[in-house]
Amino acid sequence: MIRAGLIHLSQFRRLQTKLTVLYAGLFGATLLLISVAVYLAISTAAQRQVRAELTASATVFDRVWSLRSEQLRQSASLLSRDFGFRAAVATGDRATTLSALENLRARVGIDLAFVVGVDGRLTASDAQILAPLAGQLLQTLNDREDASGVLILNGIPYQVISAPMLSPALAGWVVFAKRLDAREMGALEQLSAIPLKAVVLHRANKAWVAAAALPDQAVNRFIDRGLGQSGGKPQTLQSNGVNSIALVKSLTAFKADDATVLLLRYPLSLALAPYRPLLVTIAITSFLGLILVIWGSWGLARSLAKPVMALDDAVSRLTRGEEAAVTIESQDEIGRLAKSFNLMAAEIRERERRMTHQALHDDETGLPNRLSLERAIAARPGVGGLVVAVLGVDRFDHVRGAIGYGPAAQVILQVGERLARLAPQAAVARLSADLLGLALPTHSLQRAEAAILDLLAELEQPIHVAGDAIDVALTIGLAALEADQDPGHAIERANIGFDQARQSKRKIAAFDALAYGDPSSNLALMSGMLSGLRAGEMELHHQPKFDLRSRSSHATEGLVRWRHPVRGMLRPDLFIPMAEETGHIRALTDWVLDQAITDQAAMAKAGYAMDVSINISGRLLGDRDFADHVDQVIGRACGQFCFEITETAVIENPTVALEMLDRFRGAGIEISIDDFGSGLSSLAYLKQIGGHELKIDKSLITDVAESGRDALIVRSTIDLAHSLGMKVTAEGVEMANTFQLLAAMGCDSIQGYLIAKPQPLNELLMFLREDKPVNRHYG
Ligand code: C2E
Ligand code: CA
Ligand code: CA
Repeated sequence: MIRAGLIHLSQFRRLQTKLTVLYAGLFGATLLLISVAVYLAISTAAQRQVRAELTASATVFDRVWSLRSEQLRQSASLLSRDFGFRAAVATGDRATTLSALENLRARVGIDLAFVVGVDGRLTASDAQILAPLAGQLLQTLNDREDASGVLILNGIPYQVISAPMLSPALAGWVVFAKRLDAREMGALEQLSAIPLKAVVLHRANKAWVAAAALPDQAVNRFIDRGLGQSGGKPQTLQSNGVNSIALVKSLTAFKADDATVLLLRYPLSLALAPYRPLLVTIAITSFLGLILVIWGSWGLARSLAKPVMALDDAVSRLTRGEEAAVTIESQDEIGRLAKSFNLMAAEIRERERRMTHQALHDDETGLPNRLSLERAIAARPGVGGLVVAVLGVDRFDHVRGAIGYGPAAQVILQVGERLARLAPQAAVARLSADLLGLALPTHSLQRAEAAILDLLAELEQPIHVAGDAIDVALTIGLAALEADQDPGHAIERANIGFDQARQSKRKIAAFDALAYGDPSSNLALMSGMLSGLRAGEMELHHQPKFDLRSRSSHATEGLVRWRHPVRGMLRPDLFIPMAEETGHIRALTDWVLDQAITDQAAMAKAGYAMDVSINISGRLLGDRDFADHVDQVIGRACGQFCFEITETAVIENPTVALEMLDRFRGAGIEISIDDFGSGLSSLAYLKQIGGHELKIDKSLITDVAESGRDALIVRSTIDLAHSLGMKVTAEGVEMANTFQLLAAMGCDSIQGYLIAKPQPLNELLMFLREDKPVNRHYG
């Protein structure tokens, strides 16, 4: 979990970093674009300015050049027309000539002044410099009388001007030359608005040569290219790693075979120099801005990532089923998202709560259900300290038939609520339609039983539903939670205990493993039944019916017992239902009928003419073979026989059952309706069965003296039976006041422990001997 948390954290750290990098990157790129644009704009503007300046400088140079030429020419022509000078030249007065030349040279400020005679003879103060050129000069001057241009002398460029001397025939030329050296170029540079560099180059051996230095290949190529273009536009020149803007201007050469150019150039770095502070300011501002943006977007990303991180955290808490609300800190989209998330989480929790509630509660009553009880049992610490009880509302089907499903559920709910109130330390649940479960924290079954019996009076108070008071009787089954036992198993055992209580008609019973056995031992029981029958393990006990009018017993009911060699005396509840399932009931009933006939004869022999009833299972009411058998054996009976059947048996298969009952009646056997009021009742069948006797079930009799409702049912049942021509026997009478009440209600006979328990024949005979109206007072 910590690992997962770290991973989440690092992911969001990354989101934060991502956002920061993104913002800073975007801003940085924008700044860069702006800077580039500014730089380009500046450098283009600077270049344009430099180009304009270079072009202007070239024009200035032209003007200066022609001005100077004009000036020189005027001085030269003035001298050439001077009479004295002409005479001096003509007469070959060398000294005068030289002095005049020298004089003028110093005055006008030229570097060289000399005279070229028509014969090519040079008159100059420094004639040795010019000597190599003498022939060429003469040739040039012969071609053009006032030739001018640039002349390279000993590698130094000179601006040269000439003027012919006429006296009147051509006598020679006055030639002036001014050196185009660094100083001269400097003067030119001074004239420009920008600090450009000017240099004059001439071609020597196919390369361009300057006075000061030998230019590199780039400059050579640049000049050649520039000369190719007319007009000479400023271009970019890169030489020796320096970027400049340069312009080439071809100069008129004095000699036809000379080539001379003027190169004006200006380094770009110098052009941009004025903008450098601006660029530096932009760079610093951009850098500061970038830092600001990184800082700002880090903060922004943090403020974005933090709530997202909180949400992410909440989501993982939600998936773990923990509290997952996030605090809403803003009103923006994330705030709204958090709000929606909280709503969603609350809804999920609520739905979960509802689902859990639904899973753990009964729909109809809202009481906790079986699962909830199982959980409560499982949650109890330790073992052995818990008893599970199953409480069933007696005759619940009956109640439900009478008042409807909804109100019947209300009855269960109210009993459940009473339980919860009376046993607050216990867990209560509804297990099925009529069963409630209880997990009691107690150490022994005895204590649990005592505790529940204590509550019983309160629990069984009439329940008011829709204006009616409904009596409640409960039957309870118990089971102690054993070590390592699964809660479901404990509930099942309590449920079996409950079934055992019902079957043995007891109020409360703990799960009896021996009586219940396990399914395999039940199977063994069944396989042992037929041999048991043959081996004489069955016994027939008799329970007398006491006639309230004659105040004596003239009838008994035969109830079977199995004296099992291993498990002891078994009550019919344990093996009759199984015998019915397996079909052994037929053999058993045949034996009971036979034994009852025998016993009736024995009673008669002892002086008691008794009516004998036996119980006929519903299964046998569909068995024609059984009816045939009855027909055959009943003739041996020395007295009246009665078959006790349940209404349910008839309702399940009316056609056959009613036909069989007709046959029994035809054979002189009376029919008694057993367990009336414990299950389904149908007046229609009650009439059709045409029984001789109606036996009111124990469950209605037990409380008849206390419960007004039971009394009402019993009384109306008696009246109903009488009106249908049936006698009424009440079963399960244990108390004297019940006896009296039933007598007062007009009941015909009484059966129950108050009179006698079911007993073997010899004991019955003893009872009968004592049972004289004179010496018995039951009420
Ligand atoms: P049942 O026919 O309702 O028999 C009455 C049961 O109530 C008997 O239980 C009897 O012992 C018991 N009982 C009688 N008086 C009282 C009383 O005052 N208080 C209480 N608490 N109980 C009383 P038993 O003998 O255990 O028989 C149980 C059931 O087994 C019978 O109920 C009957 O349905 C069935 N059964 C018994 N013998 C036979 C038989 O031979 N064939 C068939 N098919 N069923 C039989
Ligand atoms: Ca019976
Ligand atoms: Ca009965």
